[in-house]
Amino acid sequence: MRFKSILSVVLLTVCIHLQAQTQIIAHRGFWKTENSAQNSLTALKKANEIKTYGSEIDIWLSSDGIPVVFHDANVMLDGKNLNIQDTPADILTQVKLSNGENLPTLESYLDTFEDCLETKLIIEFKSHRTKYQEDELVDKVLKMVRDRNLQNRVEYISFSLNLVVKTIHLDPLAKVYYLSGNLSPAVMKSIGAAGIDYNVAVFKRNPQWVKESHDLGLKVNVWTVNSPEDIQQMIDLNVDYITTDEPLLVKEFLDR
Ligand code: MG
Repeated sequence: MRFKSILSVVLLTVCIHLQAQTQIIAHRGFWKTENSAQNSLTALKKANEIKTYGSEIDIWLSSDGIPVVFHDANVMLDGKNLNIQDTPADILTQVKLSNGENLPTLESYLDTFEDCLETKLIIEFKSHRTKYQEDELVDKVLKMVRDRNLQNRVEYISFSLNLVVKTIHLDPLAKVYYLSGNLSPAVMKSIGAAGIDYNVAVFKRNPQWVKESHDLGLKVNVWTVNSPEDIQQMIDLNVDYITTDEPLLVKEFLDR
């Protein structure tokens, strides 16, 4: 009996410790490494190799309604500057990333992600010109994730409050975070978000938002934390996730 109670105290302590540990999200995948590139399939595989909590990507809807993976609103192809929302997917996928890969569709990204069992996929929905396009994007992406039974391995982030609300509405169990930094934890709780995912400067101004979030049962993610000073400051603040271009550096700090 005594052994059992000691064991449960030890297990509880281990659990609390594990919960408190800050985790890493590779911003646009792990791209600052050999043969990788932002938002490439390689960046996802590299994040999976180093076992980050998550690997982040940016998603747009092409002019013919295909979700594609890229950060900027525009791409360059054969010297032409093309807006992604005005260009069909069969043209967009001809764009070469800096590591020689073609710009991926979300479908091809999910094909690769299905084998990446060590990391979650953090999908950022980019803000689109119209609510109609944003709603179409969420509809399609949630269906793709559901059809592959990946709901428990995918989380969502967006600067667009419409995209955040729409995602929560369509999948109340999905973990959805808001990026803009202008709303308090209490407001995010009231709309059903999993937490806040704000710029590091926001937490320097409002450090109390970390504890406020935790008291409300929300998680805290912070972007994009690359400098040693910021990494240490955010670990000390006890954020749940650090989104970074330097996952190995953050790992070093966490291992200390
Ligand atoms: Mg992003």
